[in-house]
Parts: sequence; C-alpha cells; structure tokens
Amino acid sequence: MTASSSFAIPALPQPVIAVAGSDKPFPVRRVWCVGRNYLEHIRELGNDERQPPFFFAKHADMVAQAGVTVPYPQLTKDFQHEVEMVVALKSGGFNIDPQKALDCVYGYGVGVDLTRRDLQMASRKKEQPWEIGKSFDMGAPCGALRPASEIGHPAKGKIWLSVNGTERQKGDLSEMIWNVPEIIGKLSLQVSLGAGDIILTGTPAGVAALQPGDKIDCGIDGVGTLAFSIGNPIA
Ligand code: MN
Repeated sequence: MTASSSFAIPALPQPVIAVAGSDKPFPVRRVWCVGRNYLEHIRELGNDERQPPFFFAKHADMVAQAGVTVPYPQLTKDFQHEVEMVVALKSGGFNIDPQKALDCVYGYGVGVDLTRRDLQMASRKKEQPWEIGKSFDMGAPCGALRPASEIGHPAKGKIWLSVNGTERQKGDLSEMIWNVPEIIGKLSLQVSLGAGDIILTGTPAGVAALQPGDKIDCGIDGVGTLAFSIGNPIA
C-alpha cells in the first residue's frame, strides 16, 4: 500500500457497495456485465438468439448506492433501465472450473445496468465499442449485498423492476442462458478475476426509457431490493 502523501494528487476513494446488516462495505475492483443472457430480452432488442452471451465492462467508480438520484445523463434521448443480479467475488483466478466457481462468490445483490440505448445502438451499427452507451457517471446503481453465507447461491427466483409503481421488467433467474458458475468460468478465460470484482448477470425483458423524476424500484426474490430516482440533467 502506497501512502496517500506519496501520490502526485491526493489518493482516490475506494468505490464500494453496502453490505446488508454490516457497517463494512464491499470494495469494488472491476465491474463486468453480461450482454444478452435472457432470451426474451434478446428478442425484444432484435438480436440473434443463437449467438452466445458476451462481456463488457463499466468502471468501478460508476457504481452508485441505493437511494441515490441519478442525474439524467448527457448525450442521450433514450435512457433505459436493465435490472440484473449482481455477483460479488471474494476471490478469483484464471480459467476457473465452473464446478468450483461458486467458492469465489462473496454474495449477491440487485443492480441496474443503466444504458444510453440510442448511443449503444448507434455504436452497434457503426461496429464501434459500446463504451459511450454503457459507461457514464452513476451508470451502475447497486443495492446492498447479501453474503452467500446467509442466502446461499440463488439460481431461481423472480427478478423485477417497476417505474413509478408500474411493473416494467419481469423474469426469473432460472431463465439465464449462462448461469452464475458458467459466467464466472467463461469470464475467467478472458481476464483474471479477483476479489472485489462484481458481475452484472444480464437483464430480462421489459427494458424501457426513463425520464427525470422517475422512481425506480427493483428486486430479486431471496436476494433483496434496490430503489433510486432519476434527476434532472446536470446543466
Ligand atoms: Mn445489461
């Protein structure tokens, strides 16, 4: 550990996610996301359902805490919600055997992969990276984690999201194309996973646009809930 006074600018804060029932938060290292992991969502966006899911990333400091107001982000006219189960790792490695992958899991939570859909689609058309559509300030609100030692490893259960009290997204964890052990195994072929990594495991169908003033509630049976709001754009 380098002392903060030895950096060229003051040392930066460690991004964290709250842990339910604890005053010790979970430190975030990397934020991985699975694209196209629920069939009905692949269909609603008109993508090829024979193609396997894949990974992209957000930055750790884009994680936002439960209860926040996320300013409507810049550049977009189609800002959408994607509710997803968050898997938080306490260990990692390369080429993790799916049979042993759950040993790496610290716990689970509810997150939202906020998306500037118009920019994501424009990138897709131009065969450019998704960065501009997926990576932006407060683009990954995450509710408090629940340790696997308390809730086990959820493989089924309703996952849902409502906006201003109206349900928009609904699915079941059992509908994931790649389950959690497979996700960890496949991602660990691509990068070394480590303690502090979180993985957003893909969204069910029903993604739709958000507006300033919207109140979002979402949850996963047996895991938890998350609430946050959308605010006005930053002037
Ligand atoms: Mn997503």
